[in-house]
Amino acid sequence: MIEDVRPIILLVDDEPINISVLAEFLSQEYRVLFAQSGKEALRLVYEKSPDLVLLDIGLPDISGYDICRELKTKQLTQNIPIVFSTAKDSAEDEVIGLNLGASDYITKPYNMSLIKARVRNQIRLKKKTDLLEQLANLDGLTELPNRRYFDEHFESEWRRVIRRGQPISIALADVDFFKSYNDFYGHSAGDDCLQTVARSLAKSASRGGEFVARYGGEEFVFVWPEVGLEEAIQAAELACQLVQNLMLKHVGSDCDEVVTVSIGVASIMPNKDSRKADLLETADEQLYKAKNQGRNRVLGERL
Ligand code: GH3
Ligand code: MG
Ligand code: MG
Repeated sequence: MIEDVRPIILLVDDEPINISVLAEFLSQEYRVLFAQSGKEALRLVYEKSPDLVLLDIGLPDISGYDICRELKTKQLTQNIPIVFSTAKDSAEDEVIGLNLGASDYITKPYNMSLIKARVRNQIRLKKKTDLLEQLANLDGLTELPNRRYFDEHFESEWRRVIRRGQPISIALADVDFFKSYNDFYGHSAGDDCLQTVARSLAKSASRGGEFVARYGGEEFVFVWPEVGLEEAIQAAELACQLVQNLMLKHVGSDCDEVVTVSIGVASIMPNKDSRKADLLETADEQLYKAKNQGRNRVLGERL
């Protein structure tokens, strides 16, 4: 089956005739979804993440302004452009909408070529914003999520497990004797090595809900929400094994003939008084111990 990659537009209007007129004109270029109430509109936005919402202001249940306000305050939906479609054409109404974060305004009766041009412009901008956001979250060398994205992800998973009363585990992985690797093979070979190690760590974390990011330099960080200490240690041991199995020659290593990593794991059942920084600190202590005990190993502790 060929995947439909056309951008998704959500049309929100309580008058079926308005929806069908717009849908007819837009459905060649776009996948068109529609909602006749505010509640239905919000449900579809969260479920389908459309690339643009054409929003009527006067809806029976929630006003278009309130929908706009809600979508613009939520991180997951704030980049979705909202174009108000309304019979009102006074400048004050436009100002209210634009101040709420709407991207544009169209008024009834519809001028189809104008709508198409406006929609196309907004979607072009949205795609650029999406791409920028993606790039801002990725590490340039390894293409793993970067530290910035880790901070955001860890924060939201942390809050989620507290709400649900579940555990969370993290791990810090650090390449063993990597300074000697650079010294012996050169910095550029060191970069290649980090890329290969990163791919392998990502593979070890490829089950659903698992996350690995470049924490900095030759250090990586895993996040396992809803996972306790034993299971996290097992996952870390798998990551450790996968890196060793790469069989990347490392003559400067004092612990093995190939590239290896040491990993420190920390696990907690957090409550609202727990601190994320303590979990990171514990993982760091365990990593330090793993280094001291001979490297190429996993150690963990529960807080
Ligand atoms: P240990 O086993 O105790 O971790 O020893 P180590 O040599 O790995 O630790 P150290 O912290 O002394 O050295 C880390 C090295 O990693 C030094 C730094 O130049 C190198 N490094 C950090 N980021 C990069 C990178 O992006 N590319 C390359 N090639 N090297 C990097
Ligand atoms: Mg290090
Ligand atoms: Mg190191």
